[in-house]
Amino acid sequence: MTERTTNEVQPETVAAAHGVASDTAFGAIAPPLYLSSTYQFADFDTPRAYDYGRVGNPTRDLLAEAITKLEGGAGAVLTPSGMAAVDILLTRLPVGSLVLAPHDCYGGTMRLLKARAGLGQLRLALVDQSDHAAFTVQLAGKPALVLIETPSNPLMRIVDIAALSALSRAAGARVVVDNTFLSPALQKPLSLGADYVLHSTTKFLNGHSDVIAGAVIAADGGEARALRHWANVTGAIAAPFDSWLTLRGLRTLFARMAGQERNAMAIAERLVAHPAVARVHYPGLADHPDHALARRQQQGFGAMMSFELAGGVEAVQRFVRAVKVITLAESLGGVESLVAHPATMTHVDMGPEARARAGIGDGLLRLSIGLEHVDDLLAGLETGLSAC
Ligand SMILES: *Cc1c(COP(=O)(O)O)cnc(C)c1O
Repeated sequence: MTERTTNEVQPETVAAAHGVASDTAFGAIAPPLYLSSTYQFADFDTPRAYDYGRVGNPTRDLLAEAITKLEGGAGAVLTPSGMAAVDILLTRLPVGSLVLAPHDCYGGTMRLLKARAGLGQLRLALVDQSDHAAFTVQLAGKPALVLIETPSNPLMRIVDIAALSALSRAAGARVVVDNTFLSPALQKPLSLGADYVLHSTTKFLNGHSDVIAGAVIAADGGEARALRHWANVTGAIAAPFDSWLTLRGLRTLFARMAGQERNAMAIAERLVAHPAVARVHYPGLADHPDHALARRQQQGFGAMMSFELAGGVEAVQRFVRAVKVITLAESLGGVESLVAHPATMTHVDMGPEARARAGIGDGLLRLSIGLEHVDDLLAGLETGLSAC
C-alpha cells in the first residue's frame, strides 16, 4: 500500500478528501477508477507498484487507506461482501479453533458460523455477551476469536467493547467487532481494545444502497498484511467499481450519520408517544436499558431502531401496507428510510423458538432511518401507525 497522506487530519477530512487531487496523470480531483486487471512491467523482472488486480488495485487501496484511517487501524482488507469479511477471519484460523460469538448476532453471520462448524472447520460457542459472568465461563474454553456485535440487530442492545476486549485478550483470544451499525463516525472499536473491526460496507460506509462489499481493519500492521495476503490467496477481493462507489459514498459519511441520527431521534420520540406502539428500542432514548453505556462508548446513537406494535402481526401487515416514505425492504444504512419485519425477513432462519428467546416478537419492526425531510418521515410514519 502506498502512503499518500503524511499529515494527520481530522476524520471528517479523511472521509471527504483522502486521495482527492492525487492523480498524477491529469490532476483529476476525483480519484480515477482503475478497472485494469493487469499492469505493464517497467522492465524485465521489474514490476511497478501494481502487477495484477487480485493482488492489489489502486482504487481499492485508496478506499482501504481511508477506512483504515477512519477506524484508527494499521491496514485493511476489502472483501466482496460483509459475509466475506467475516469469513476471511474464520478461514485463517487453524482447523478446530473455538469461536465465541453473540447468541443474537447478525443472521448471515450465524448461518456462516454454523455452516463452518457443521463442516468441522471450527467449534462454535454462543453467549449473551451482556452477561459478563457467562462470557468469562466461555473464555475458559480458550477461543481463538471472539466476535462482538454492538448495537445488536434488531433489538439495539449494547455490550461493553472495552470490558469484553480486555477479558478476551487476557484469555489469549483475538477480538473482532462488527461495526456495521454505527460506522467509525460513531464508534471506534480499535481504540477500545479490539484487534479487528469488520464492516458490511454495503450499509452506512457506502450509504447509497448500490454496493455489496465488506472490510476488515486490523490494529496490527502484520495482521493487516496477513489479511491482505489471504485475500489474494483465496481471491476474496472487492471489485474496483464497488470500491470507487464506496469511496464516493464515504465522502459524506459524517454528514449522513449526523442527519440520519437527528431524524432517527425524532422518529423514536414520535413512536414512544404513539398509542399503537408497545415498545421502542433506540439507544438514544433515556429509558433504553443500555443508554448510559451507549453514551460512554459511542459518539452518537445512530439511525437504527426497532419497535413493537401493540396489535401484533396483524398490525404489522396493516402498517407496512399503509406506511409512506419508509419502504419495506431488507438492508440498512442508506440515505433512504427502510422498514423490515425481522420475524419474516432478516431473522426468518432463526426459527420461532430462538426468536422468542431472543425477544424478537412477531409485532417487531426494524427501521433504518434515512435523510428525507423529518416532516415527511413523521407524516409517512403516522399514515402507517394510524392504520394499525
Ligand atoms: C449486512 C450485515 C452483514 C453482512 O454483510 P453483506 O454485505 O450483506 O454480506 C454483516 N453484519 C451486519 C451487522 C450486517 O448488517
